[in-house]
Amino acid sequence: MKYIIITGGVMSGLGKGITAASVGRNLKNKGHKVTAIKIDPYINIDAGTMSPFQHGEVYVLKDGGEVDLDLGNYERYLDTELTWDHNLTTGKIYQSVIEKERRGEYLGKTVQIIPHITNEIKDRIRRVAAKSGADICLIEVGGTVGDIESMPFLEAVRQMHREEAEEDIIFLHVTLVPIDAQGDQKTKPTQHSVKDLRQLGLSPDVIVARCKNPLHESTRAKVSLFCDVPKEAVVSAHDSNDIYDVPLLLEEQGLTGYMMQRLDLVAKQQDHAWE
Ligand code: ADP
Repeated sequence: MKYIIITGGVMSGLGKGITAASVGRNLKNKGHKVTAIKIDPYINIDAGTMSPFQHGEVYVLKDGGEVDLDLGNYERYLDTELTWDHNLTTGKIYQSVIEKERRGEYLGKTVQIIPHITNEIKDRIRRVAAKSGADICLIEVGGTVGDIESMPFLEAVRQMHREEAEEDIIFLHVTLVPIDAQGDQKTKPTQHSVKDLRQLGLSPDVIVARCKNPLHESTRAKVSLFCDVPKEAVVSAHDSNDIYDVPLLLEEQGLTGYMMQRLDLVAKQQDHAWE
């Protein structure tokens, strides 16, 4: 199984979901079977009890699972059907760890975030990915790097990075490149969010920069140098009039090829999708 972990920096609502779904679509076009897991670090068990005024409409899966709208993007972009298991929340993880503790399954041990919560997260990710029958599993970590709620999930994926083969797991960080009053693209927020990621022991393999206009070559070079990723791994995800154009936007910059090379994957079919 190949894992692509998608994190976000600077602010929420950046476009992690659209980016992840687009990356998945491009890999599917190369003949790979792609699935997705969305991590929502909130304590609610699921999105069913959450106000649509705060979170947008609840998306209901075929098995009745009430989940975040991102799962709808995944189903549409990947042309697949997901189940409730593909949405992990802090509430779900804690509920199952506490139930296990009550059944005495931890054999008298002190139940802790590391390793019990992190093990539960890793077990669920691996179980859901294997059950889906996919070759590639996208894992979107909701929220923003640095949020207290997402820490156990980021620690769990850090451990997975150690446990999986190097060519089986890569990290894609979505960040913001704003423009200042003179119209210059600013990389400082990206530098800081990558620094936050590194403090947690995670290094991005790919940086996707959300920006108003296409990323300038000089900005790309700066992000590459300061964030220590190759230039071809810095990708512009500028504002698009149609979110269904985003896969093409990423494909044109060679992102799919770069990721397949990093993941040691070969195309299983000719990609005719963009002809
Ligand atoms: P996140 O998962 O980071 O919360 P989403 O993927 O849900 O963010 O995207 C947030 C909003 O930004 C959505 O309304 C989405 O349609 C929009 N969006 C994302 N990427 C782009 C893009 N490249 N161009 C225009 N709008 C985008």
